[in-house]
Amino acid sequence: MNLRDFFIGMSQNQFLNNSAKKYGLKLGAQSVVAGTDVAEMIQSVKELNNNGISATIDNLGEFVTEKSEALKAKEQILEVIEAIHTNQVDAHISLKPTQLGLDIDYEFCKQNLSEIVSKASEYDIFINFDMEDYDHLKPSFDLIDEFAKDYDNIGTVIQAYFYDSVKFIEKYKDFRLRIVKGAYKEPETVAYQDKKDIDENYLKLIEYHLLSGKFTSIATHDHRVINHVKEFVAENNIPLDKFEFQMLYGFRKDLQLDLAKEGYKFCTYVPFGDDWYGYFMRRLAERPQNMNLVVKQVFNK
Ligand code: FAD
Repeated sequence: MNLRDFFIGMSQNQFLNNSAKKYGLKLGAQSVVAGTDVAEMIQSVKELNNNGISATIDNLGEFVTEKSEALKAKEQILEVIEAIHTNQVDAHISLKPTQLGLDIDYEFCKQNLSEIVSKASEYDIFINFDMEDYDHLKPSFDLIDEFAKDYDNIGTVIQAYFYDSVKFIEKYKDFRLRIVKGAYKEPETVAYQDKKDIDENYLKLIEYHLLSGKFTSIATHDHRVINHVKEFVAENNIPLDKFEFQMLYGFRKDLQLDLAKEGYKFCTYVPFGDDWYGYFMRRLAERPQNMNLVVKQVFNK
């Protein structure tokens, strides 16, 4: 078993997940999670805004199996929407359908999402449907298709590791899209396994959507991709207000600030809440060097 598989396995461990909620932000997670409540999170967002950076806020949680938990998550997200509006911060929402009950019942999940999307629409706040693993791809796209009939404040994510991602981006070319490499462990029947193939496909998807003229969020910590995009937009006269770079809270902070200072739109993905464990383990899976964050935290106590 390699380190990536080890941390992905850890991210799905229910006992450790529950213990993490009980014992608060530990193991370095506080460097990459913007607090456990709305007040702390809004403070972090204001600091980002002061540096010319917008935020996409993720109320942490996923793969929920209890209706009560999904309803609680819905209430929390509604509270975040209210807080964005009241504090007039430059921010929108990222959410995961499985947190709102996709694994429990499609219609139940749709009802929860409907309250969120409609409230956000009243305040003109954008909602991004994050994309999870392959098994949830189809129902997530189905939800998006249904909401797109009535709302224009929604968008989603295209994951470059899927062979079918080109088909997805063609289908959703009129949407505001975040394009990523892909964070879950997927079998080779559906996804590229080789980093080189994923990177190549990633650039292809980014270029396609940038040229389509719809807003593109390029979500990566990979400076090579960022430099490629800078050249591509200059060569193709793509206006600066048609795309943004996104990175996760706490990662490559200097690069985040530099890009914002250079005049690029920049948006930080701000996760908060007590359900941080799965998120944090996936970050370790992507980049075992993130263990540095853990080590620093332990020694800086
Ligand atoms: P990698 O391929 O991990 O790294 C490439 C190179 O970049 C590395 O070799 C290194 O040179 C450099 N690098 C990377 N990280 C660092 C660092 N911390 N410090 C210094 N150098 C570094 N995935 C999903 O499946 N669904 C989603 O909805 C989703 N949303 C996301 C939203 C945001 C804002 C971001 C940033 C990612 C999201 N992801 C999502 C995760 C994404 O799919 C990737 O798993 C993750 O971003 C890792 O890939 P990467 O492009 O950042 O670079």
